[in-house]
Amino acid sequence: MIVTLTPDADEAYVRQRMQSHGLWVQRFAGADVVSLLVAPGSAAVDASVLTAIAGVADVSETPTSTPFVQRQRDVPIQLGRVSLGVAPLLIAGPCAAESEQQTYAAAAMAARCKATMLRGGAFKPRTSPYSFAGHGKRALTWLRNAADANDLALVTEVMSTDHLDDVVQVADMIQVGSRNMQNFSLLHAVGRTRMPVLLKRGVAATIDEWMGAAEHALVAGAASVVFCERGVRGFDPSTRNLLDLGAVALLKHVYGQPVVVDPSHACGRRDLIPALAAAAMACGADGVMVECHESAGEALSDGPQALDEQGLRLVSTQLGLTTDPKQTATGVVSPEVYA
Ligand code: PEP
Ligand code: MN
Repeated sequence: MIVTLTPDADEAYVRQRMQSHGLWVQRFAGADVVSLLVAPGSAAVDASVLTAIAGVADVSETPTSTPFVQRQRDVPIQLGRVSLGVAPLLIAGPCAAESEQQTYAAAAMAARCKATMLRGGAFKPRTSPYSFAGHGKRALTWLRNAADANDLALVTEVMSTDHLDDVVQVADMIQVGSRNMQNFSLLHAVGRTRMPVLLKRGVAATIDEWMGAAEHALVAGAASVVFCERGVRGFDPSTRNLLDLGAVALLKHVYGQPVVVDPSHACGRRDLIPALAAAAMACGADGVMVECHESAGEALSDGPQALDEQGLRLVSTQLGLTTDPKQTATGVVSPEVYA
């Protein structure tokens, strides 16, 4: 059971009354509310006994290991100027903010293709320590200015608590990347900012582990956690990862969670991205996040999956945000149409 307190409750009193009934009490402080979870091993007590304690606003009996995730079920979510769930959300932008000019060009392309949120990394997690790892703090400024110039919200990744304050200054949503999905101290710090979080799935994370990670951020105070499916490690190198659309349908249709799909990192090749975007939306995603670049051949990271404007427009068409004469009736885009 989860006991939610009224804003003016005497928490110590409620806790003492609960304990007097043989309950183990575990405290959660969310963004605006304090909850006391009745932990396993507690005595069996009727919910009405708890509702009668002064200072108790609500008693939820739903057994769940992720009560805060459950609380955001079907709840409207605001990401800066963007309301999730009102129209399909298109998040687009470069893998990395490489220069002021490239960031502005990508943001303008995103806006022309009806994206409402810019993506882009200032701090890049790279497999090799010798690869380009982002321009850091100055790239955050490029991203915010490029987003503002094109009336876009901004999501950008934080890899370390060292940079969290800087990211909070510019972002409308903080991205926690795949490699950090279970970095619990980072999740707690990000949660404490009370901002919305885009939580990318770890390459080998189960859905339970992913939801547990979201719970960590929410318990710490995150305004919301949007799940981002970006492909899991598969066995076939033909695509970079294996897009798990079953996870998208499960999170959306069974758990009522906000879900965005990243087909760029899922397949790693630009020709397949529009088709996967269509599939993601069919599975219930609230939107997609894709990478784009004005000259993909020169991209400093993830060039093969970077969309040009034509490709981004096709993705936008799959989301019903734009129309494109090359669109097929089935919504599937063949490599002959876009390569
Ligand atoms: C990204 O979106 O920039 C990124 C690095 O993705 P992921 O964490 O999913 O690999
Ligand atoms: Mn990338």
